[in-house]
Amino acid sequence: MSSKCPTEPADAASRRAAKPAIVYPAGAMAMPDMDVLETARQTMIKISDIVVPPRDARTFRVARGQFFRIVSIDGPQVGDLNLWNAHDLSERFFSGKTRALHATHLTARDRLWSTMPCLRPMATISHDTLGWYGWDADGAGIHDVIGTRCDPYTNLLLGGAAYDFCCHSNLSRALAAELNTAPGAVEHHVHDVLNVFMCTGFTKDTHQYFMKASPVRPGDFIEFFAEIDLLGALSACPGGDCSATHSSDVAMCYPLRIEIFEPDRTTLGTWTWPSPSAYHRNHGTPG
Ligand SMILES: [Zn+2]
Repeated sequence: MSSKCPTEPADAASRRAAKPAIVYPAGAMAMPDMDVLETARQTMIKISDIVVPPRDARTFRVARGQFFRIVSIDGPQVGDLNLWNAHDLSERFFSGKTRALHATHLTARDRLWSTMPCLRPMATISHDTLGWYGWDADGAGIHDVIGTRCDPYTNLLLGGAAYDFCCHSNLSRALAAELNTAPGAVEHHVHDVLNVFMCTGFTKDTHQYFMKASPVRPGDFIEFFAEIDLLGALSACPGGDCSATHSSDVAMCYPLRIEIFEPDRTTLGTWTWPSPSAYHRNHGTPG
């Protein structure tokens, strides 16, 4: 078979003119009751905060029913977020399905879904001070679920040095410290991230993943409502605002702050808590 681009068929234009159908239309799943969350957030009190140093990561624990914020403090900085079920690390954030259910970039009202077989909301975004950004002229948006995380393996593959402070390594070190083990023993738990504050898209001509300077300003935050008990990890990416480079010590980097809040639980009385998927898991075999 030739590796040359094949000649297009005579009916190529009509084939390309097929109408797109949204794979998972909005409205097909129950939407979170944002009025309940808004009432709850008016009552919440900050109970702890954790500073994530630049080019490093920290873990944090959030109980079901609490809120947490990721806050920009000293300067423009992108964060890479991982989430696990605090009681079972095999249930973790499912970036790909979250992208399919919502969009390439997330904002308030969108949910962070967990892996199969549970496939349930782990957290709902309750506030996003960058929600004004929308989509820019390059097609970029904020808080993407299209990237994976910077990592030393890809960096080496592309001819970089063996750089040890990529988000993958930062998250692995933080999780290892949390679990009192070595990074190599837990790095398989590190997964595709929510790219907090990152401004990304796909180029219009070649559909390649691109990044541009994050518009985040000190004081901006994205806030989440925990739907299950969570273990989280956040890396302050070595790319800083990710305007030009990552996977090195070149970019200017800043810390991020994680803030955890406890609301008046009586305000959550009508909240529908997520259960693991009810699918029987026989997968077509006699059950
Ligand atoms: Zn990174």
